[in-house]
Amino acid sequence: MRILILGSGGREHALAWALSQSPQQPELFIAPGNPGTAQLGTNVPIAATDAANLRKLVREQHIDLVVVGPEQPLVEGMAEALRAEGVSVLGPSAAAARLEGSKAFAKAFMRRHGIPTALYRTFSAAQLDEALTYVAAHPEPLVVKASGLAAGKGAVVCATREEAQRVLRWMLEEGGLGKAGSEVVVEAFMEGEEASVFALTDGRDYVLLAPAQDHKRIGEGDTGPNTGGMGAYAPAPIVDETVLKRVAQEIIEPVLAGMEAEGHPYQGVLYCGLMITAEGPKVVEFNCRLGDPEAQVVLPVAEVDWVELFERTASGRLHGFTMPPVRRAAACVVLASAGYPGTYTTGHPIEGLEAAEALPNVLVFHAGTRRTETGQLVTQGGRVLGVTAIGATLAEALQRAYAAAEQIHFEGRYLRRDIGQKGLLRLAL
Ligand code: ATP
Repeated sequence: MRILILGSGGREHALAWALSQSPQQPELFIAPGNPGTAQLGTNVPIAATDAANLRKLVREQHIDLVVVGPEQPLVEGMAEALRAEGVSVLGPSAAAARLEGSKAFAKAFMRRHGIPTALYRTFSAAQLDEALTYVAAHPEPLVVKASGLAAGKGAVVCATREEAQRVLRWMLEEGGLGKAGSEVVVEAFMEGEEASVFALTDGRDYVLLAPAQDHKRIGEGDTGPNTGGMGAYAPAPIVDETVLKRVAQEIIEPVLAGMEAEGHPYQGVLYCGLMITAEGPKVVEFNCRLGDPEAQVVLPVAEVDWVELFERTASGRLHGFTMPPVRRAAACVVLASAGYPGTYTTGHPIEGLEAAEALPNVLVFHAGTRRTETGQLVTQGGRVLGVTAIGATLAEALQRAYAAAEQIHFEGRYLRRDIGQKGLLRLAL
């Protein structure tokens, strides 16, 4: 079994690790990969969006299965481009990936199919005046979102109508987010706690991974600017059996049925970004791939043969597959560069990785690292490493992850000290 993973972050390292644990012992290729994935397979210097060269690679290396990590290639049609080579691909078609690629599409789809989400309206650049008038009568707070992909920077929670109007002008008039913001969604603010639920689906059947919680803000207590994610844990107790059942029945099943009915069956990972409100779970956003850092906990926490599961998902044979029950917890603490998500410096030597990895039940996933010509590992991005640990309980997983994180040093290393606290508090209730 020869598997190609597309992408280069912590998520892709976690995917490579999960697949490498399979008794089927697959041969792994990662394009372009990172120093972490290089330890588990062959890194190939091709960008995850370079369809022409990836098609060639799939042919030449006789790849059996492709797992697409990030959203950009999927939204651009990578799944169908590679399927044209006869290879199985885990990931939706461009038409189905619009659930992530166009928030305007996703909101209208949810409205058509009665899927719970915030009330909203969509506006194009030509409708700026209409948008400003709409906002002038909107309850506060409210949310303004660019419809297109904006690398996590496209949603602004606005405390006041004036702020919302400034954001609207910035996106629609000044082109602040380019094409991604040429259409916007204005939606009502939902009160609650956020969580992520991932379904793996072949278009009809699906299985659920452990619910997870991300930590998007840079500062402790969920303060400061948004980041790609500073840590995660799974399972998240906020999504108990009852909530999970509602997510399955009120969100995932109508999405799959709706996408099929509209002629775009959804195959791959369906990531439901949720607000758990007093009325129940509501959709904040859909993503068409695993989250990062959530992948770094939802993959290690499950005791399953990922090669079999991904292969069956990608080839429409998920029927009859049962996920084993989740009997443990996983936590991931992200080590970032000082200054992130603003400006930061790179090239700082990373020490202590081996000591961290030598601790039991610890996995260190590379995100922004590089190996120099002399073999020294150095920092290369905002989020540098994801330190994941598995434990019998969330408390144990967290304690192990933080102990491992303490072993790793680089100049300006920053981490949040409160990963998983919301989960611990809920478990103590
Ligand atoms: P990303 O892909 O990085 O998660 P995004 O740019 O696609 O982000 P959203 O996920 O829709 O945008 O929103 C980003 C964050 O803004 C959410 O995680 C949530 O914290 C907040 N948010 C968005 N919409 C709402 C809402 N209607 N009510 C309350 N908070 C919201």
